[in-house]
Amino acid sequence: MPNKPISSAKLAECSVKISARGAERLKARHPWVYRSDLLEEKSIAQGDMVRVHDQRGKFLGTALYSSSSQIAIRMISHGSVADLPALIAERLRDAVQYRKDLVANTDAYRIVFSEADFLPGLIVDRYNDVLTVQILTQAMDTSAVRQAIVRTLTEEMRPLGVVERVEPRIRELEQLPPLASALLSGDKTSTDIRMNGVAFHYDSLEGQKTGAFLDQRENYAAAAQYAHGQALDAFCYQGGFALHLAKKCSAIAGVDSSRPALEMADKNAALNGREVEWIEANAFDLLRDYAAAERRYDTIVLDPPAFAKTKRDLDKALRGYKELNLRALKMLRPGGVLVTCSCSFHVSAADFQKVVADAAQDAHKSVRVVESRGASRDHPALLNVPETSYLKCLILSISN
Ligand code: SAH
Repeated sequence: MPNKPISSAKLAECSVKISARGAERLKARHPWVYRSDLLEEKSIAQGDMVRVHDQRGKFLGTALYSSSSQIAIRMISHGSVADLPALIAERLRDAVQYRKDLVANTDAYRIVFSEADFLPGLIVDRYNDVLTVQILTQAMDTSAVRQAIVRTLTEEMRPLGVVERVEPRIRELEQLPPLASALLSGDKTSTDIRMNGVAFHYDSLEGQKTGAFLDQRENYAAAAQYAHGQALDAFCYQGGFALHLAKKCSAIAGVDSSRPALEMADKNAALNGREVEWIEANAFDLLRDYAAAERRYDTIVLDPPAFAKTKRDLDKALRGYKELNLRALKMLRPGGVLVTCSCSFHVSAADFQKVVADAAQDAHKSVRVVESRGASRDHPALLNVPETSYLKCLILSISN
């Protein structure tokens, strides 16, 4: 978090006192303090901005408070904050500027990634002329903050539509009243986007979680660099990898269990004038059957949904990754390419590499790491906040 005190003028009245353990976390530049580390709360209401003090009363900075989350406060500044909407507008402008230098070859990318852009509880994505906003905490949900968000985004980006995408479960957890996804300003909700020269339809009021594939944008281009021959894109969603690989491969199939995703994938293929065979199936079953039938491929992509939603799921998740990777490795010809991803935060990069290595051992294959990648640069990761890095993408070359 930038260490500039915003203003010492009018300070928020409400304050919290946190334990030594909480203060240590903040000192380590992690923005979260859990409820169990709150020692004292003074005149705080849901979503308030609070002044944070340590046990001895030393001022540590300013945070946003949630009355329901286990993450009781999220730091917004290490100084004082007089005007939260003004600070949020400034951070939004910074986030827009940060992408100007980093993002190329696309009109679709993440503009704000919550903690990683020092705007905890806010996600904003750009899909060409449509922006989507996700509000994840009580403090971001107040009307003054909402107005600042929409006004600043409109000034900075001149979109034709700003759409709020609501995840009902998150509002429930934050004890916020239910709300439907809807336009916040403008009138456009769907559009076409281009990533690395490949076109996609986008409908902000349909589909799975917003930005389902924006974090893979640079990985699509990297994968396309090595792809060749006969290819299979497993867990293809709306065709992100498949359509990038199509121009390099002699034949390509995409498999997903979601029919609406495949219908959109087919429209995307038409938009790009590409032929892809879309298969509606459980990818686990399909890979097992194809491996048993001794099918062979030159390129396989594995991009399953997060298997480990919590730490408790870790063992099961690792077994899932092992099985998928083993089947894919068995089917790859010598010289083949495996692009294998995990978006489970609870599976570390080291865990993931180990599980794929175990699969290679069981498949009796030697495998080289061509690239070890993460999310696109518009999804920044904070060095001191492991929760901000979650996506792993290994590009592997199969020797024999
Ligand atoms: N690779 C995609 C994103 C994949 S998201 C892209 O770059 O856009 C994960 C996808 O897995 C979703 O589309 C979901 O429908 C699909 N899925 C989940 N479980 C599945 C299963 N058992 N078999 C096949 N697809 C599955």
